[in-house]
Amino acid sequence: MPDRSPVSLLQQLVRIPSGNPRGAPRPAEAAIGAAVAGWLRDAGLEVELQAVLPGRPNVLGRVRGRDRSRVFLLESHLDTVETDGMTAPPFAAEIREGRLFGRGACHAKGPLAAMMLAMAELARGAAPPVDVLLAAVMDEGWRPSRPGTAAAGEPYVVDYAMATDPAEPVVRQLEEAVRRAGRPAEIRGVHYGTDASKLARAGIPAVVFGPGSIRQAHSADEWIELRQVDEAAAFLAATIRAFA
Ligand SMILES: [Zn+2]
Repeated sequence: MPDRSPVSLLQQLVRIPSGNPRGAPRPAEAAIGAAVAGWLRDAGLEVELQAVLPGRPNVLGRVRGRDRSRVFLLESHLDTVETDGMTAPPFAAEIREGRLFGRGACHAKGPLAAMMLAMAELARGAAPPVDVLLAAVMDEGWRPSRPGTAAAGEPYVVDYAMATDPAEPVVRQLEEAVRRAGRPAEIRGVHYGTDASKLARAGIPAVVFGPGSIRQAHSADEWIELRQVDEAAAFLAATIRAFA
């Protein structure tokens, strides 16, 4: 029986290098894609690998819901930025004082781990209200054609203001899940680009949410608090279970 704890999941993800090849023909996401797919399959999900480019897949994992006509989408990405200038060992996944260090720990393997844990929880229990799809996509923000995302064809340098109404159920239920756990919740805009604004533009209400701070993304000693990964997983699962 493999160790399926949250800590070992994130350590496994960080220990697999997946630096964005910046247009070079490297199979950047092949190894991590296979690891994510295997973990999700073991957790009972229906898993599909989409070969976007040679050695560069998207991983899609699905939990069937009671209403199969609607889908709750969780999206993160498999690639990371480069490791130049890092002071923490990029692939050791060292843990100190509750923090896990390494490239991608915060952006975006910690959030991806939280989503995977939420999916595993949903697969274990009763069927969720709607289908739940996890998209772990290749190639964030490098290729101008953005083949890995729902909004293919959008130029990656352009980002749009989010157009999701705070009254949308996904926003309210996520806020409620956070508050129920005694944590403060605040809805606000962010100053960095994500796929959420592309999804919102396609008419899909979207929220940017996850463990860690944007201040740690791309940093020399990138880290994430492991407790936050666990919490985020619980908030996501609770939000999806309450989704109507
Ligand atoms: Zn990102």
